[in-house]
Amino acid sequence: MKVGIMGAMHQEIEHIKKRMQVDAEKCIANRVYNTGKIDNTEVVLVFSNWGKVASASTATTLIQHFKCDFVIFTGVAGALAPDLNIGDIVVGSAAVQHDMDASPMFPRCEIPLTGITFFKVEEKHASSAVEAAKSFLAGVDEKIGQKTLSQFFISKPIVRLGLIATGDQFIQDKKAHIGLNFIEEKQPQAVEMEGAAVAQVCHDNNVPFVIFRTISDKADHSAHIDFEAFINQIAGQYAGGIVEEFMRASFG
Ligand code: SAH
Repeated sequence: MKVGIMGAMHQEIEHIKKRMQVDAEKCIANRVYNTGKIDNTEVVLVFSNWGKVASASTATTLIQHFKCDFVIFTGVAGALAPDLNIGDIVVGSAAVQHDMDASPMFPRCEIPLTGITFFKVEEKHASSAVEAAKSFLAGVDEKIGQKTLSQFFISKPIVRLGLIATGDQFIQDKKAHIGLNFIEEKQPQAVEMEGAAVAQVCHDNNVPFVIFRTISDKADHSAHIDFEAFINQIAGQYAGGIVEEFMRASFG
C-alpha cells in the first residue's frame, strides 16, 4: 500500500510533514513530492496546486509515477449548505464538476464521453474518513486551544458527509453560478477547485480516494475572516490531525 496525500495549502503540507518520516524529495512537472512513511505506511506528500488541471496533473503523477494506490485530498472550501460554519469539516461522499457544460451533446455537469456526473467515494472509505474527522474534532479544544478557535468564531465544529462541487472559479456568489443552481437539488455541501478533478483521475485509474475539506468561507460576500491566519492556525492543524487519524485507522 502506498498512499498519495495531496494538500491544497502549503501550511497543510507542513503540518502533515511533521507527522511523516521524509526519505526523499523529488520535483516533477513543477510539483515537489516528498516520499517517506507515516507509521509503517509508505506515503507521498505533495502540494496539489489550485484548480482542476493542476490538481489532475498532480494526482496523475502520484498514481502513474509513484504508483500510489490510495489518494487522500485535504483542503479548504466554501460552504454551500447554509447550516455549515467556518471550521466545520465536509467529507466527500461524491464530487461533481459544477462548471462542466458540454450541452447540448451531454447533460450539464456530465463529464463528456464517460456518462458520469458524480464521482462517488467508496462507502467504506467515506465512513472511515468521517470517523477520522470526528475523532480529530473530539479533541480539537485541546489540540488548537479555545482562544484560537474563538478568534475564528469556531465552537462545536461538526463533520458533514456530502456532495462536493468543484470548478475553476473561486465562488463568492453561489447564486450566480448556473452549474451550482443546476445541482442544487443534490444538496452539495461545499464548493472548491480540485476535488472532482482528482476524483476523475482516480476513477480513470481505478484508485480509491477520500476528500476532506475544512470550511473557510461561506461562498458569498459575507465578512471575511483573516484567511492567512485561518490557514496557519486552523486549517493546517486540521489537515495534520485528520490525516494522522485517517492513516492510523485505515492503514495503521
Ligand atoms: N481566498 C484565499 C485564496 C483561496 S485559494 C486567499 O485570500 O488567499 C483557493 C483554494 O481555496 C482552492 O484550493 C479552493 O479549492 C479553495 N476554496 C476555498 N473556498 C473556496 C470557494 N468559496 N470557492 C472555490 N474554492 C474555494
